[in-house]
Amino acid sequence: MSIPTNLKVVVLGESGVGKSSVVLRFITNVFNPTSEATLGASFVGKALSFNDKILKFNIWDTAGQEKYHSLAKMYYRDADAAIMVYDITKRDSFNGLKKWYEELKENGPRDIVVAIAGNKEDLVENEAVSPQDAKAYADSIGAIFRKTSAKTCTGIDQIFKDIALKIFPE
Ligand code: GDP
Ligand code: MG
Repeated sequence: MSIPTNLKVVVLGESGVGKSSVVLRFITNVFNPTSEATLGASFVGKALSFNDKILKFNIWDTAGQEKYHSLAKMYYRDADAAIMVYDITKRDSFNGLKKWYEELKENGPRDIVVAIAGNKEDLVENEAVSPQDAKAYADSIGAIFRKTSAKTCTGIDQIFKDIALKIFPE
């Protein structure tokens, strides 16, 4: 068996969009509808086998500092990928991604892989951002786009696989 390859993934986006829930779903396959809390620790990890490799995703979640748009520089340092999350029912959370992207470009590595997660896809009847708009924005910055739901599991594993594939193309 090969030695795991460590990948640092940072999660960005407005408070309440479901960042911690997406991370929790990916890591433990659990959804907690009343969760307010973040995972607390600086990062959590999960290994996945991918082609001939074992990838260890070390995922950095915020502890609420995103409210002040002031994530420490070390949050971004040496990140391999960033997942920018918005809530599909909240237009503002999508508009806000531009600012997160600027911050990422300012503080993150030049070649970082960026993915956009349109989360809460289970609430699609209240969708406030057209997927075409979201995809067009993602394309304009060279980002992956996926709709996700931490509640139903939709798209969660896929977005991490998309990231893996972009870092290690077949
Ligand atoms: P964060 O502030 O971005 O970390 O967001 P949280 O993960 O704390 O989630 C905020 C709220 O949205 C919580 O009540 C979650 O249960 C809820 N939530 C998160 N993801 C989803 C989802 O995919 N679908 C639905 N319906 N609710 C979600
Ligand atoms: Mg959180």
